[in-house]
Amino acid sequence: MQTRLFIGGEFVDALAGGTLEVRNPHDGSLLAEVAEARAADVDRAVDAARRAFPAWAATPAAERGRLLLRLADAVEAHADELARLESTDTGHPLKDSSLLDVPRTAATYRYFGGLADKFEGSVIPVDAGFLNYVTPEPLGVVGQIVPWNFPIMFTSWKLGPALAAGNTAVMKPSEIVPLSTLRLCELMAEVGIPPGVVNVVPGYGHDAGARIAAHPDIAKVSFTGSTRTGRSVVEASAGNLKRLHLELGGKGANVVFADADLDAAVNGSAFAIFHNQGQACIAGSRLVLHEAIADEFLERFLDLTRSLRIGDPLAPGTEMGPLTSPEHRDRVLSYVKVAQDEGGEVLYGGTTPDDPDLSDGCYVLPTVVRADPSARVCQEEVFGPFVTVTTFAGDDEAVAVANSTDYGLGAGLWTRDVSRAHCVARAFRAGMVWVNCYKRASPGSPFGGVGRSGYGREMGFEAIRGYTDPKSVWVNVDASIPPWYPRG
Ligand code: NDP
Repeated sequence: MQTRLFIGGEFVDALAGGTLEVRNPHDGSLLAEVAEARAADVDRAVDAARRAFPAWAATPAAERGRLLLRLADAVEAHADELARLESTDTGHPLKDSSLLDVPRTAATYRYFGGLADKFEGSVIPVDAGFLNYVTPEPLGVVGQIVPWNFPIMFTSWKLGPALAAGNTAVMKPSEIVPLSTLRLCELMAEVGIPPGVVNVVPGYGHDAGARIAAHPDIAKVSFTGSTRTGRSVVEASAGNLKRLHLELGGKGANVVFADADLDAAVNGSAFAIFHNQGQACIAGSRLVLHEAIADEFLERFLDLTRSLRIGDPLAPGTEMGPLTSPEHRDRVLSYVKVAQDEGGEVLYGGTTPDDPDLSDGCYVLPTVVRADPSARVCQEEVFGPFVTVTTFAGDDEAVAVANSTDYGLGAGLWTRDVSRAHCVARAFRAGMVWVNCYKRASPGSPFGGVGRSGYGREMGFEAIRGYTDPKSVWVNVDASIPPWYPRG
């Protein structure tokens, strides 16, 4: 497969000739050496995107949409191959890549392909004799910085709306997991997306990423990653007053009320935290349990946690794979001591599995920790299979605990009381709320957060709107109206 940078429709070597080692998180083996983009390569990519922009922006929206629909078809036609590649590179269990990541990727391109020629301007009712219409104009070259947790899917979340709206893109996938994005470049070329419309530059954040954030010819940056790096993107973007979309992670509260369907809540809560080994910004990483059902819930939840099948992501039946990199595994495990130092009690996990077949991989046991809501493990994003447990007595307390972090991305609640469901959903400070479910997402539904979780939205009309500027055009349609101020 291609391992070089994708610039101007061609795979090219990096100018400085450096490479990145891409390793399999299951056993540490070398999967590929990928060309490492540096700032000068980003500049080349931006030039290519700038040259491609006028023609792409002028391409009829229906044609841009048709190409995205063809890309969706191509993703589906290569679904098995892409799912295996994603699982090998990231450690996602193949079941998840096959049933979620790849189908959602195709669905997202299809949604924005369909939306391209339905995203309309408007006519504003203004003074008689004038026509005022507003058209959504593409921004130009947009920069897109993608993290390592859902590479192929996040690529579609960012490219779908940007391309549908007529922008061209320079994308930096994470240097840890760039393979599916590079494979996608081949598919984009095959379906006829013109050269330069999408340029892909895998590289390090402090070099290639920082150049994207600061580049004077990039009109907008869409960034998904940590709040700390998000801040540096904001600072770097000031030079040309770039527009920003920041998706910065979360610390999702998952509140189980006493009247909840416990079977559904236990199952859904395990999915909320352990899917993708907890490496999700919307993970339900704080279990907040009503004291009346806490013991029974925990007993069932721990039984389920103990029974999760951990292992080779490509093996049938695997429910939890490795974390994506050794550095990240170590970071997640370091939070066990952080929890214990603050009086937290490890109820399960907190170590690597003792299976010798997994000793070379980035595996961490699913970990359940009882902790005070103010503890660091309840406030900081661990981003792994690590869930905290706290209890509450009344609805107000549940909401207060849920809202007690600086993040505000996703939150869940489990109850049979419809009025409580709506009241609590309204009271959560979060961009997304799930009632009797968790982590649902759809290409049409806005995805994003408030507070330190960032601003702007992926998906839906909000996303495509974020890749356009409204242009307001005034036309004097009544010749009897003088075009100047009436004089005395
Ligand atoms: P980062 O925020 O550091 O990285 C996210 C992306 O930004 C990567 O592609 C990274 O490249 C790039 N980047 C890094 N520095 C800069 C910069 N100065 N300018 C522009 N881009 C930059 O996250 P990490 O990968 O280090 O993960 C750390 C923590 O961040 C996680 O444990 C988790 O808590 C959170 N996170 C949240 C995500 C989410 O979905 N919201 C996704 C990923 C992480 P490089 O990899 O080379 O540093």
